[in-house]
Order: sequence, then C-alpha cells, then structure tokens
Amino acid sequence: MRASSGGEALETLRELQSRGDAVAAFVVDQRMPEMSGTEFLMNAVELFPDAKKVLLTAYADTDAAIAAINDVGLDHYLMKPWDPPEEHLYPVLDDLLEDWQADVPAPYDGIRVIGARWSPDSYEVKDFLSRNQVPYRFFDVETDHDAKAIAAAGDQPAALPLVMFPDGTRLERPDNRILADHAGLQTAPTTNHYDLVVVGAGPAGLGAGVYGASEGLRTALIERQATGGQAGTSSRIENYLGFPKGISGGDLARRATVQAKRLGAEILTAVEATGVRVEEPTKIVTLNDGTELSCRALLIATGMTIRNLDVPGAEPLIGAGIWYGAAVSEAVTYRGEDVFVVGGANSAGQAAMMLSKYAGKVIVLVRGGSLEAGMSQYLIDQIAATPNITVRLNTKVAGVAGGAHLEQITLLSEGIEQTLDAAGLFIFIGARPHSDFVEGLVARDKRGFILTGTDLQVDGARHPSWPLERDPYLLETSVPGIFAAGDVRANVIRRVASAVGQGAVAVSFIHKYLETA
Ligand SMILES: Cc1cc2nc3c(=O)[nH]c(=O)nc-3n(C[C@H](O)[C@H](O)[C@H](O)COP(=O)(O)OP(=O)(O)OC[C@H]3O[C@@H](n4cnc5c(N)ncnc54)[C@H](O)[C@@H]3O)c2cc1C
Repeated sequence: MRASSGGEALETLRELQSRGDAVAAFVVDQRMPEMSGTEFLMNAVELFPDAKKVLLTAYADTDAAIAAINDVGLDHYLMKPWDPPEEHLYPVLDDLLEDWQADVPAPYDGIRVIGARWSPDSYEVKDFLSRNQVPYRFFDVETDHDAKAIAAAGDQPAALPLVMFPDGTRLERPDNRILADHAGLQTAPTTNHYDLVVVGAGPAGLGAGVYGASEGLRTALIERQATGGQAGTSSRIENYLGFPKGISGGDLARRATVQAKRLGAEILTAVEATGVRVEEPTKIVTLNDGTELSCRALLIATGMTIRNLDVPGAEPLIGAGIWYGAAVSEAVTYRGEDVFVVGGANSAGQAAMMLSKYAGKVIVLVRGGSLEAGMSQYLIDQIAATPNITVRLNTKVAGVAGGAHLEQITLLSEGIEQTLDAAGLFIFIGARPHSDFVEGLVARDKRGFILTGTDLQVDGARHPSWPLERDPYLLETSVPGIFAAGDVRANVIRRVASAVGQGAVAVSFIHKYLETA
C-alpha cells in the first residue's frame, strides 16, 4: 500500500490495525513531508511491532540510517538509487518477508498442541516444534474451553499434550521421534555408509555440513533435538559477522539448515548417537533406535549443556517456571510478571534483554561482584539502559518453592536470605560437554571436554594413545579420522563464529585424512 506522507501512512496503519490486518514490512523514505522516515517508523512500530523496517536513504543520510538500527530496530537501509530493483530491492524484500513469515503465525490451519501451560511435557513438545521451525498453535486447557472439550472427548480423556495434525492424526504425549516423523522431518538415513558423519547439528555441525556437502563429501548430520544447538536457543546473537542488527538464534538455525540441505547434506533429527566403534578404517556410529551408520571420517560436534541449578525445591519445577537456556517460546507467556535470570555471561544478558520486552521486572542474579568479568560491554550497556532490568551482584539462589509451578525464590546475599515472589527463573550457569557416547574411545580432559590436535601433546610428547607416526591434525582427536569441533572441545573459545569456523576447518583436515587413509 502506498502513502504520500508519514501522516497519511500512519492513518492507513491505524485503519489496518482496527480491521485486524497484518503488516509485513514498511519501506520508507528517510526524507518525506511532515516527518522523517525514522520518525514515522518510531510511531509505526507501536502499531505493528513485528513488521520489518526498511529505510530508503541518500548518501548523506547514512548516519541517520545507522542510528535507526538502534533507535527503531531498522532491518535494512537501501541507498538511493536502488536500480535495478531485481538486484538491489527485491532480494532484500524477499529475504525480510521470508523472515517475517517464519516468525509471525499465519491464519491458522496447521498443527495444534493442546496442553497445560505449566506442564513440562507440554513445554517439551512446544520447544521441539518451535526449535525445528515447525509452526504450531498452543491451546491451554486451563483457559480455553474448546481445547478442554477436545481433550476430554472420547471414551477416555486424552493424555496431554495432545498434538493434532491437519490430516486428522492425533498424537497423545508423543516423543520427539514420533513428532518428528509426523511433522515431516527426516529421521532415517538414505544409506548406511557416508564419507562424513557429523554428530550434532549446532553451528559447528552445520558449518561442517555446509562445507563437507559442498565439497563433494557424502555427508550426514545426526541431531537429537533441533538444528542450531545452543545458538538456536539464543534470542539475539549480536556479534555474528554479517548481521549488523543481530540475528535470532532461530533465524540463524533456519538459514543454516536450509543451506546445508540445499548443498546436499542429510540431516537426521530426533536421533541420538549413543556409541561409536572403529573397525579400521571405518567408523561406526550407533543410534538410539539401533541403526548403525558407517563412515570414513567422523566429526563430533555435540556441544555442551548448562549445568542444573542444584537447590532445594528445583527439580520438580523444571519446565514449570524453571527454564534452562533462553526458552524463547516461553518468554511471551510472562507478560507483566516478575522473572529472574541466573548467570553473568552473555547468554544470561541476552535472555534478560529478551525477557524485558514482556516481563514486568527482570532481576539478573550474579554470583560474582561484577558483570564485566563475564559479559560483553554492549550487553552491559543495553541492560543499564533498560529500566525494567535490575542486576543483583554477589547473590545466589538458595531455594525455590511452588505447587504446580514456580511461585517463590529465596535469594542469599551477603549472608542474608530473602524470599520473593517469582513467576519464572531462567538459568545460565556452568557447562557439561556432551561426550559420554565416546567415553573410553577418544581422550578427554577431566571435565569430559574432548582433546584435539596440540592438546594431545604433553610436554612436547604425543598422547600415549595416539597410534600413528604423524602428529594429529588440528581438530583431530586421539583416534585418527575422528575429529571434534565447537564447544565440546577442550580449551575452546565458545562462540557461534568460532564453532562455525571450526566446522569448516575440520572439513579441510578431513579431506587431508581421507587422501591418506
Ligand atoms: C542462550 C545462549 C546464547 C548465546 N549467545 C551467543 C552469542 O550471542 N554469540 C556467540 O558467539 N555465542 C553465543 N552463545 C554460545 C554459542 O551458542 C555456542 O558457542 C555454539 O552454539 C556452540 O556450537 P556447537 O555446534 O559447538 O554446539 P551446540 O550449539 O551445543 O550444538 C550441539 C548440538 O549437538 C546435539 N547433540 C549433542 N549430543 C548429541 C548426540 N549424542 N547425538 C545427536 N546430537 C547430539 C545437541 O542437541 C546440539 O544441537 C550462546 C549460547 C547460549 C546457550
């Protein structure tokens, strides 16, 4: 729709809003009658916060455009002239509209999940679907009479959550594998032998998938939960190169998954690697359904998990008010309520920023005496500028309490305990590598992180279990032909860019290994 001034456009938007219409994108000239493009966008986002924002600028307006990235969350600015549009305008709009469509629910005729808001089983189903970019709509039996009636219909009430598909299929309390099969995700391999099998499809695994498949290796990725890994749970990654406005972990995961598949990698989802054995020169990976996949080279890219919060009362409330990781799908349910974030690293800071959009108050609990020790300055600045976030230093959680869901939290600060009402507790502490499935096969450090390349040298001597004359390649483990990349490695920088880079670098050493194996 076109408007010849900012005022006219705002009038149109108000009409659209009153009709319940959706707006996908604003394309706005910075120089307009009545108000500037940035001023228009500031008003427009109040009406349609999810719409994408593109500013058309002249060379002289570049500073205004860069400022608008922060002020109004500008998605893109286009320098005038933007001819030919096929090259400069349409691809930008296509990309933004695709993102918008992925995030904003369309009119509904898709998968329905019927369950209870505070049920951990319902959360697991919602989290699995949303992290795998399977659109669904959730209906809470406690507040939605129709949903309650559907769940209660039949001889016996349905075991919740109940997942209903457009073709009429009903799944009661399904596990991830069954859900994945019905939602159209690939769960079985097309062959049982590959050049490269990658276990884990986080940034490191996806990086390896893209490079391996594009460089001619028959490549399969095995992912037990959802592609994107920890990064996929991040509400906004601001430091990944090429995304000046930041990118949500979900978007990055979606883009990388599409890219890896387009280049020919197979991605098996809801499938877990439970063991590996070597029958030289073949590596054989056992999956949790008993399938065996053999390969010439194996890459372990299984990342790590944040540790559990070990305080009285926590265990039964996990998934019922206590969340590990950002739990993006839950944030919106905390509108106006008080929530706590535990941790002092970037992941905790990002979660606090995301939650502050919905929650009444966000209280960040940090064990140490400063945020600077673990958090990037840009996040510290954003937190300081967000009025509904409070940071409590030198504070830890001493206990939690609740019935069906979390209700209270007890804090300990300088020897004094304080109990407060709490609707949600989001935890970002400590790390545990996912390497148990190769325990006893590859060398690990005492915490279980995998040793690779030069880590395997002690005082200049090779690791006792290394069998070859040559030194291990960079990212190669103590077993020739088995490589590791990303957060599961010992002594690694835990960043998205670093994981992606290691996935790519691992592939080049895998080529080297395959040439000589
Ligand atoms: C909330 C949050 C926010 C973050 N924000 C940023 C940020 O802004 N910038 C930044 O640079 N970094 C950020 N990080 C860190 C970054 O996400 C990680 O460094 C990165 O994801 C590591 O990638 P990875 O591929 O090594 O491991 P992961 O991302 O952990 O992926 C490993 C994958 O392997 C799968 N897996 C594990 N075991 C098995 C098995 N046996 N079989 C099959 N699959 C298995 C897991 O399900 C997972 O999907 C953030 C982390 C978190 C948790």
